[in-house]
Amino acid sequence: MKKTFDDIEKEHNYYMKEALKQARKAHVLGEVPIGCVIVYDGEIIGRGYNRRNTDKSVLCHAEISAIKKAGKVIKDWRLEDCTLYVTLEPCQMCAGAIVQARIPKVVIGALSRKSGCGGTILNILENPDFNHQCEVVRGVMEDECSAILKKFFLELRIRNKLKKEELRSEKQE
Ligand SMILES: [Zn+2]
Repeated sequence: MKKTFDDIEKEHNYYMKEALKQARKAHVLGEVPIGCVIVYDGEIIGRGYNRRNTDKSVLCHAEISAIKKAGKVIKDWRLEDCTLYVTLEPCQMCAGAIVQARIPKVVIGALSRKSGCGGTILNILENPDFNHQCEVVRGVMEDECSAILKKFFLELRIRNKLKKEELRSEKQE
């Protein structure tokens, strides 16, 4: 049976919610909340969330972790027939890895003005000069995906402000 537009939207929302669950794991660790899942044949075969500070590595972005896990599950570096869901538009590193992994479809939640390489700053995912181009869907559960980031940065600003005030009062004592 051919999927209707409604079915596709429901499917996208379902997996984006799963990616958001991953983002919440990052939030708990005090990391920028970004999450990712990779789906093959209706099943999630790779999950990942941002652990850059926790693991002290710039390589520990959500998408890279999910790609590593998915590759182990299907025993191939090529993630053909997979769909990658990510709460924030991939950066240059992750967009590069997605193209390298030949992932055919990428579903993005919120766009990133600071590092987006799925069309905002660069469009690595759909560049016709590379040997692989992804089909890109943008703005799936965009409000939820950007709300979790906004909340994180607001909390961070409050924490930093409190820290500064604490330091100031210590100096005065
Ligand atoms: Zn990245």
